[in-house]
Amino acid sequence: MNLAFFDTKNYDKPPFERVSKDKNINIKFFDSKLNYDTAPLACGFDGICVFVNDTIDKSVIERLCEYKVRFIALRCSGYNNVDLKYTEGKIAVFNVPSYSPYAVAEHAMAMLLTSVRRTHKAYLRTKDFNFSLNGLVGFDLYGKTAGVIGTGKIGRAFIDICKGFSMNVIAYDKYPIENSDIDYVSLDELYKRSDIISFHCPLTEETYHMLDKSSIEKLKRTAIIINTSRGPLIESKALLKAIKERKIGGACLDVYEEESDIFFEDYSGHIVEDDTLARLITMPNVLVTSHQAYLTTEALNNIAKTTIENILSFEKTGKCPNELHCLK
Ligand code: NAD
Repeated sequence: MNLAFFDTKNYDKPPFERVSKDKNINIKFFDSKLNYDTAPLACGFDGICVFVNDTIDKSVIERLCEYKVRFIALRCSGYNNVDLKYTEGKIAVFNVPSYSPYAVAEHAMAMLLTSVRRTHKAYLRTKDFNFSLNGLVGFDLYGKTAGVIGTGKIGRAFIDICKGFSMNVIAYDKYPIENSDIDYVSLDELYKRSDIISFHCPLTEETYHMLDKSSIEKLKRTAIIINTSRGPLIESKALLKAIKERKIGGACLDVYEEESDIFFEDYSGHIVEDDTLARLITMPNVLVTSHQAYLTTEALNNIAKTTIENILSFEKTGKCPNELHCLK
């Protein structure tokens, strides 16, 4: 079994090499992201392994089928970068539905705490022996209202963390969990009442730009936005405008609308062309991390384990419990 592994980073290799050892899977690690131009690298492989910013659109799927690639193993949970409808009946696709919801939820809280207690600024100051506290006034999370959008695995882990801080938690989900103790409200009410809003729903046609110019108008002027889900949930130009006009309190962004050519790469010393991202980063109340929320040892090990199990199950039985199908 030969597997082409796209968009490889140095932290991907060790867990995959460990888990695939003695499993008769030869992995060829490519640095390149998968797209139409790099798809020929997959020629001669049984399957490919891809991540969040690889492009698996119609043109790439056609190329993969031409090369007789039999499966696409996503080493992530989200699959908005795959044209699932077009893969149907042509090539199998599987994902890792859960590897550590805690990793992502804990990162969301880490960003929130950093943002409201200015620890990122304090760290830099004390490194320079500057012990002044000016400009570092934060606020208590105790008693504040957290609005959680999407109460799946990560959203629920984040709710538990917020409750640990004695915050009031309200939530919105298109498919609320029945008979749960979650305090569901409408999306409008959540926007209106929340001091903190954290996005944990998937990117779909419906959730694309769910935070845009008009929904921003509904928020408290002090609201802090956290997005660890997918960048396009938030219309970034509208977010930047709202920040400039002091219409919201701040934003913690682990994902960004146009991240695919930027995140995971080192652009220090380069001129970044994306003016919206560059301007957002200059804002004192915006914190950006580079799609890092999932990046813990536990999560990387679980990702490798489930991905390899998915592949072995598909090889053995022609089926995989984590196979994705288009619902439309
Ligand atoms: P999940 O499938 O367990 O939960 C998603 C929840 O969103 C479900 O409860 C679903 O009912 C709800 N939902 C669906 N459509 C909705 C809508 N229109 N409005 C409101 N809610 C809606 O997924 P999860 O494991 O909790 O992951 C959530 C998202 O986090 C993923 O889709 C992925 O994009 C993102 N993610 C990011 C990272 C990272 O490193 N930043 C890592 C893993 C996952």
